[in-house]
Amino acid sequence: MNNIFSNTKEAFSLKSNFELLRAQFLFNIIENRTLVKLSTLLTNFALKFYLPVTPIIKMTVFNHFCGGVSELDCNPVIKKMYDKRVCSVLDFSTEAFNSEIEFDNCYDKKISIIEFIKDRPEIPFAVFKPTCLGSLDLFKKKTIHEDLSYKDNILWNRVIERFKGVCQKAYDNDIKILIDAEEVFVQKAIDDLALLMMRKFNREKPIVFNTVQMYRWDRLKYLSDLLNDKANNGLIFGFKLVRGAYMEKERLIAKSLNVKSPICITKNETDSNFNSGLDFVFNNLDRISLVCGSHNENSVIKIMEIMKNKNLKVSDDKIWFGQLFGMSDNVTFNLAKMGYNTFKILPFGPVRNLMPYLIRRAEENTSVKGQTGRELQLILNERRRRKENNS
Ligand SMILES: Cc1cc2nc3c(=O)[nH]c(=O)nc-3n(C[C@H](O)[C@H](O)[C@H](O)COP(=O)(O)OP(=O)(O)OC[C@H]3O[C@@H](n4cnc5c(N)ncnc54)[C@H](O)[C@@H]3O)c2cc1C
Repeated sequence: MNNIFSNTKEAFSLKSNFELLRAQFLFNIIENRTLVKLSTLLTNFALKFYLPVTPIIKMTVFNHFCGGVSELDCNPVIKKMYDKRVCSVLDFSTEAFNSEIEFDNCYDKKISIIEFIKDRPEIPFAVFKPTCLGSLDLFKKKTIHEDLSYKDNILWNRVIERFKGVCQKAYDNDIKILIDAEEVFVQKAIDDLALLMMRKFNREKPIVFNTVQMYRWDRLKYLSDLLNDKANNGLIFGFKLVRGAYMEKERLIAKSLNVKSPICITKNETDSNFNSGLDFVFNNLDRISLVCGSHNENSVIKIMEIMKNKNLKVSDDKIWFGQLFGMSDNVTFNLAKMGYNTFKILPFGPVRNLMPYLIRRAEENTSVKGQTGRELQLILNERRRRKENNS
């Protein structure tokens, strides 16, 4: 595909020759399902038995997809990207937390990140994964409307308080906050909390953004129900539209429960659902702010065309494009050059904690035909271009 996103000079302007070579090596591995499975097994084994693999992981896959171990480590890359008009969203690694102490620690960390990013236009959003603030089990129970025990009720109220605390901190510092979407078996509880937060904090401007996974065939109804509900009159919605990251897991769960899968049957269906979601947002732009979390060039081009047809400024603050650090630089940096609002999700944290994230990136790229090939082709094009220009 040759289009406005094929400018590899712009896309990789921040990557050294070494970093490009490393990216090529990584995407070559990621393209191979067997190699991904094997490296995942080996890495998990090595980490479990505390074998000294952390430096190797750090020098390779970690440094490609993550900003560093601490917030401060991320500063140089944040600055370099902002010089290219690309903002950053710091995402502290929080997977599989289990205890109240861990949820409290995670809450403190989210608050300290907001403190760290306040008054920094290069980091306009904060983000959190809901189940890092409360137990998965409670989110499950709330999702199926199970009656909570006395103790569970107390714990759930603490989850609500943690949500409120993070959103209040974001509101007080005029930072937009993205709430990640997770698996269907916990998502209804997340949606309800996100709505509660939007009703509290999104009266004057969009502060809280809920994530809508358009690989779910029921999400258009979710969107229109929200806008039609009179109780939501006067609030400004924030939505991050994504396709969704848990397709294979969701299908397995549905199969094991012998129920209809919540996911669209084909990629084309997901794509057209995603497009309908975009149309819905733009038809209601007086009430919605959008973050498009996608690497898909067609989706991004569709938004650019709608914006043009509606005479919206490219830098309209209601529309943001987000990609993950280490992926689709051709989309992010070329969009930024044209003046659109863009950010990279910049994960950071201890290497060990980031392993589930990194494995998900590898598996996701392996399962998406075409994306890895496209990344590889762009890297090869840029390496060839540099060779020809001796740069
Ligand atoms: C900034 C940002 C934030 C994100 N936040 C979240 C989040 O909070 N929660 C979350 O779940 N994900 C999140 N994601 C990941 C996202 O949901 C996608 O998994 C990822 O971006 C790939 O989709 P795409 O639109 O970029 O690219 P594409 O390559 O066009 O689409 C790939 C996606 O299409 C869908 N798909 C692929 N094959 C099929 C099939 N056979 N049938 C049906 N559907 C199919 C899957 O969702 C797959 O991930 C985020 C991504 C970004 C960039």
